[in-house]
Amino acid sequence: MDWASITFGAFLATATIFVLITLALFPVVRRRFLLWLSARTAMIGLMAVMFMSPDIPIGLTEAQVKLIGGIANTLSIAVAGPFLASYIERKYLLDGTRRLLRSVFPIGLILAGIIPLVPHVPGLTNVPETGLLVLIAIIVFGLGKAISLGSRAATFQAVAWSGGIAVGLYLLIYEIVTGVEVDFWTTAVLAALALEFIVTSMGVVDGFMDLRRQRDAALAEVEAATLAIATDPLTGLANRRGLLRHYEESERGRPHGVALIDCDHFKRINDRYGHDVGDEVLVAIGRGLNGENVFAARLGGEEFVVLLYGDDWQSLAERARQRVTSAVIEHVAGLGTSVTASAGIAQLHDGESLASAMKRADRALYAAKDAGRDRSLAMIPFDGSPSGASAPPPLRAIG
Ligand code: GH3
Ligand code: MG
Ligand code: MG
Repeated sequence: MDWASITFGAFLATATIFVLITLALFPVVRRRFLLWLSARTAMIGLMAVMFMSPDIPIGLTEAQVKLIGGIANTLSIAVAGPFLASYIERKYLLDGTRRLLRSVFPIGLILAGIIPLVPHVPGLTNVPETGLLVLIAIIVFGLGKAISLGSRAATFQAVAWSGGIAVGLYLLIYEIVTGVEVDFWTTAVLAALALEFIVTSMGVVDGFMDLRRQRDAALAEVEAATLAIATDPLTGLANRRGLLRHYEESERGRPHGVALIDCDHFKRINDRYGHDVGDEVLVAIGRGLNGENVFAARLGGEEFVVLLYGDDWQSLAERARQRVTSAVIEHVAGLGTSVTASAGIAQLHDGESLASAMKRADRALYAAKDAGRDRSLAMIPFDGSPSGASAPPPLRAIG
């Protein structure tokens, strides 16, 4: 086998693998440019078979070879327009330029349709070549515009096509100046096309890496936003949404009880020391409420809810309530008064919803406020009898 056949065989194998890989990627990433790219590679392959194979393809006349090669060449340029339109990053391609690049395809199809008519219609002689020059000008314009706006994909593609352009210009100028064809032109064109395949693949991979980076950043943002909407910005505790999420998703399972804890006479703190100190007190309460076997959330204002995990749920609630006072002493300097809280506690029965237990805890909290504040009151075990619902709540003092 001679050197030309080896080069040609290797080129066709590369082109085939390239088409197969781009087509295989399409169902995975669903980017339309992959289809245009494989169409372009297939057309280049067909053109190479016609114009550059060491022997004339079997069964074809020289005129037919020229015709098929010419059509394949035109189509390979025609699909480059929509390829760029869908390949270049959206933000670096203005709508007008995108439409212009897309128009390359229908114009290319018309030019390809004109090629077979050229020998029969005298006025058409130079139309396909002139038309191709216009298409190439549009493509170069679109590429340049995107590069000037900072497109990485367009830069990769310019490098990918630079070999072809350089070889094409060299061959043209050489022919014009010397009047003879460069004898190694097939090898030069094949090398330029191989460069195009390699650099285009690199560009495609680079684009996918960029997509992955963007996806990772978007996922991180969604994660941060998900956390933010479930968090109270002042205390850093869960808010009502975070409480429900924790209740539904926590690996701890169902809590045994729930406590509503409300700071006593909080309005007086605001009035006496100002809203900022009030905020500091709320932050301190948030730090104090959290502890072992409990999950604390801020419902709003100076009202908190604590989920209690353990058979000793009543004393867990009472200890959390007492931590309000100690945490404020520890974290808020110069507060002359002692800050207390009241708690209403309820057991979470099997099959009972959190909202229902919280309602009962709220009634106990009101009772604790009525009874003089600074205390925990629990609903005594709920017997499930319907009459209990309208009767005044049976309460038990804790602590
Ligand atoms: P009680 O013992 O009956 O609970 O009396 P209280 O003063 O604690 O309750 P009240 O509901 O009358 O007042 C709550 C106050 O909490 C009123 C509101 O201005 C204040 N408040 C609500 N949210 C915030 C906040 O985010 N920061 C501050 N500093 N104050 C808040
Ligand atoms: Mg209060
Ligand atoms: Mg309140």
